[in-house]
Amino acid sequence: MSNRKFEVQAISDEILEKLSLKNRYSFIYTNLMGILSAEELAFFKEVQKFCLNYEKKHNITHGPNEDIYEWIPDFGKAGYICRVHKFEELDLNYEPHGLMAEFLKTLAIDNFDPQFTMGAGATILAVNPIQAHHEKIPERLDALKDLVLGQAPGCICITEPERGSDAVHMLTTCDEQDDGSFLLNGTKIFNTNAPKAKWAVVYATAEKNNGNTMAQFLVNTSWDGWNCERVNIPWVPKVYLGKETFVNLRVPKEYILGPVGKGREHLFEGLVPERIGIAIKSLCECWGAITHAIIYSNMRKQFDQEVLKFQGVGFLLTDFWAKTTNLTRAIVQFSKFYDNLVEKFGSDTNIPRNLRQGMVANASQLKYQATGLSEKVCYEAGNLMGGAGLCDNTLMHDYINMSRIGEIVGGSRQIQQYIMSMSLRQLFKIL
Ligand SMILES: Cc1cc2nc3c(=O)[nH]c(=O)nc-3n(C[C@H](O)[C@H](O)[C@H](O)COP(=O)(O)OP(=O)(O)OC[C@H]3O[C@@H](n4cnc5c(N)ncnc54)[C@H](O)[C@@H]3O)c2cc1C
Repeated sequence: MSNRKFEVQAISDEILEKLSLKNRYSFIYTNLMGILSAEELAFFKEVQKFCLNYEKKHNITHGPNEDIYEWIPDFGKAGYICRVHKFEELDLNYEPHGLMAEFLKTLAIDNFDPQFTMGAGATILAVNPIQAHHEKIPERLDALKDLVLGQAPGCICITEPERGSDAVHMLTTCDEQDDGSFLLNGTKIFNTNAPKAKWAVVYATAEKNNGNTMAQFLVNTSWDGWNCERVNIPWVPKVYLGKETFVNLRVPKEYILGPVGKGREHLFEGLVPERIGIAIKSLCECWGAITHAIIYSNMRKQFDQEVLKFQGVGFLLTDFWAKTTNLTRAIVQFSKFYDNLVEKFGSDTNIPRNLRQGMVANASQLKYQATGLSEKVCYEAGNLMGGAGLCDNTLMHDYINMSRIGEIVGGSRQIQQYIMSMSLRQLFKIL
């Protein structure tokens, strides 16, 4: 029996049992055998095993009253919050690590619980800039350790009530003090995890609307001047987003990750991994949703036949199965290429400018297509399950809801298209 908690059971025992996490993992694993190496499959299986045991041991039902933030320390202890880096400076020495490892870890965890993946994933947005700019300063390394080991969630604060897509022209200000500290004043919004976070990476400008004067700060949310209210996003009721008002929030100089003038560069540096991370999350949603629909339609009978056998169902599923598989190959290829570059140049930030520029366009292409595919796949997979796809008996309602978020976060669909069209101008200019 699936241990999902729901009000009223709408799906038969037999089908619910087949939709178990173990079976869904098994289906995806088999699909990836022609794409992943033996080592990659082994790591994917390792994280699956952890999630299966965790679900069983803690009797996790994925029901509405569970607090996903309570699980973060256990996943951190197991080394499953962030696998992008090795974290040698924290003596963690993760193997495997890199974007490919992050993809495999996310695929396993997202199938376990998609809302948990979003909350845990947003911490990585704070991890990346601290990892890139800690300069071995103990205060920064302590924060990094908290985040990576799951002792505290993290968040990034870019978006403001009046500056969303136009993030470069910020209104939040930073004023340098005689002792080298800064005072932050302004308002941020829609920051995933902010009400639960201990550490925040915050962007502000010395002069309003002037991106050249942007700086990047690491903030402890217990400091005076950090005021946070929860913004409710009904599609992800278990994830906490914040609206923060900074009132003379003092940031000591040890916590300045990027001085005035460096903030914009640091902000753009973080956008490639963030967009790829969203593309990965969306792809994982595609796998989760089609796996549910494929298992369901192979068992559900109408007109005395399994509904998969009707072309209207079967052919639609094959279309999305092919697109999901092909997108997987694209993300795997990008991840390996990126990991090779990081290995060759020592770190993400050392990758030469011309190669980085290509990756900016690639990251937008992948984010654009993966989020668009997730929105279609999750809706249609739910649709192919009829009422069963819309009720609360499975994770399908999470997939349908969450797939509507991907196109907005990390830069909207239109902004990705704008970035890609700028790249087309650049490419034309070299002719
Ligand atoms: C669930 C969720 C999680 C989020 N997490 C974070 C987070 O952790 N940290 C953070 O800082 N922010 C976060 N955000 C904010 C997110 O990045 C912004 O919502 C997003 O960048 C869009 O900004 P906006 O909402 O102000 O929309 P606007 O910028 O006001 O856009 C409104 C519409 O106009 C379109 N538009 C705007 N400019 C152009 C243009 N030049 N050309 C064509 N169309 C355009 C947009 O595509 C959109 O359709 C999150 C948002 C959500 C919903």
